[in-house]
Amino acid sequence: MNTKTSNSTAVMNTYGRFPIVLVKGKGACVTAEDGSEYLDFTSGIATCNLGHCPEIITDALHKQLDTLWHVSNLYHIPVQQQLAEILTENTHFQQVFFCNSGAEANEAAIKLVKKYWSDQKAIERNTIITFSHSFHGRTGTTMAATAQEKIHQGFAPLTPGFQYANYNDPQALNMINTDSTAAVMLELIQGEGGVIPAETEWVKLLCEECQRQGIPVLIDEVQSGIGRTGTFYAYEQFDIQPDIITSAKGLGSGFPIGAMLASEKFSRHFTPGTHGSTFGGNPLAATAALETVKIVKNESFLQSVKEQSDWFVNKLEQMASSFNLIEEVRGKGFLIGIQLKIDAITVIKALHDKEILTLPAGPNVLRILPPLNVRNDQLVHFANKLQEVLTEIQHNKEDENHE
Ligand SMILES: *Cc1c(COP(=O)(O)O)cnc(C)c1O
Repeated sequence: MNTKTSNSTAVMNTYGRFPIVLVKGKGACVTAEDGSEYLDFTSGIATCNLGHCPEIITDALHKQLDTLWHVSNLYHIPVQQQLAEILTENTHFQQVFFCNSGAEANEAAIKLVKKYWSDQKAIERNTIITFSHSFHGRTGTTMAATAQEKIHQGFAPLTPGFQYANYNDPQALNMINTDSTAAVMLELIQGEGGVIPAETEWVKLLCEECQRQGIPVLIDEVQSGIGRTGTFYAYEQFDIQPDIITSAKGLGSGFPIGAMLASEKFSRHFTPGTHGSTFGGNPLAATAALETVKIVKNESFLQSVKEQSDWFVNKLEQMASSFNLIEEVRGKGFLIGIQLKIDAITVIKALHDKEILTLPAGPNVLRILPPLNVRNDQLVHFANKLQEVLTEIQHNKEDENHE
C-alpha cells in the first residue's frame, strides 16, 4: 500500500503533516516507507522518552497483552495501584487519578480545584489564572485555559473562568486574590509556547503568594515530566511544593496514559461518582507506564540525562555563537529550543533532507527533543548536521543579499 500524503485523505485535516510516512522505529531511529532512516529528535513530541519500542516496555506489554487488556475501573487494578504508588513515593502527593492524555489530566485537575472550593462553600472562587504562551490542551476547557489567541479562534464561546497573566511577570502576583482566584496553573518550562523556562525566583514568589492566600498551585508537567528536564518532574528543580501536577506524554513511553497527582488536602475531594474515565489507567496503559517510571526514576538514569543534556546544550551554544541566524539556545535537560531569526520550518525541512527529525515551537523556535537514552554519537551526528544546514542557509542568504 502506498500511503496518501496529500491533505485529502479520509483522516480529518487537523494537522499540517510533513510528507514523510514513518513505519518502523528502534531507539532514536525511525524508518520511512521509502526506506530512508531518520534520527528522531522529536520523540513523538516528548513522548517516546526511552526511544522507539524500548525492549523492557515491549516485553511487559506483550506479557500483559496475553493476560488482560482491559477491565473497568469498577474493579481494582493492581498494576494501576502499583503505578500510583511509585509515582507518589517520596513525594508530597498522596493520590493519583488516571486518564488518557495531557488534556484529560488538566481537565481532571481543573475539576478537582472546582470541587475543592465547592466543598468549602466558596463557589465565588471561580477563576483560574493561566499564562501567556501557555499550552494546556485542545478540549473545550483546556483550550480556554491555554492563553493563546490562535488556539481559541473559531471556538467561541469559551469555557468561562480563566484569567490570563503574563508569564515571568511580577505583576501577575497582583492578580491573585482571595475573592475570586481558585487556582494558578502553569508550565515551568513552556513547551508548545516556544520552549520558555520560568524564572526560578518568579515561580517561588508566585507559589509563596498562593500559599499565603490558600490558593492551590497546579503545575502542568505534561511535556516537562518523566525525566525530560533532567529530574523526574521539573518542579523538583524549583524550591516549591505544588498542590497538584499533571503528567502524560512520556508517562507511557508512547502508550496513551495521563495522570493527575494531588496532595491529600485536594485529592480527598474526588469521591465515587465525581470524576471518571473508561480507559484511564487500564492494565495495558498502566503496565507501559509502570515499566517506564521504574526506569526513569532511577537516580543514575536521571544523572546521565543531566550530564548528557548539559554537554549537548553547551555544544549547541558554542555553535550558536558562529551563526547570526541564531538568537538564543534555551531549555532544561533534553527539552531544548533554538530561537531563530528565520522560520523554524526552513530549518526543519532542511534537516529532513539530512534525515533528521525536529519540531517547531511557534514560528521561530526549533524544538529539539532527543530520547533521554540517546547515544553520544547520535548527539554529535545531530550537531554536525545542524551545523551543515545552518551553514547552507546562511550562505544562501548571503548570496541573495549579493544579487
Ligand atoms: C501536549 C501538552 C498538553 C496536551 O496533551 P495531549 O495529550 O495532547 O492532550 C497539555 N499540556 C502541555 C504542557 C503539553 O505539552
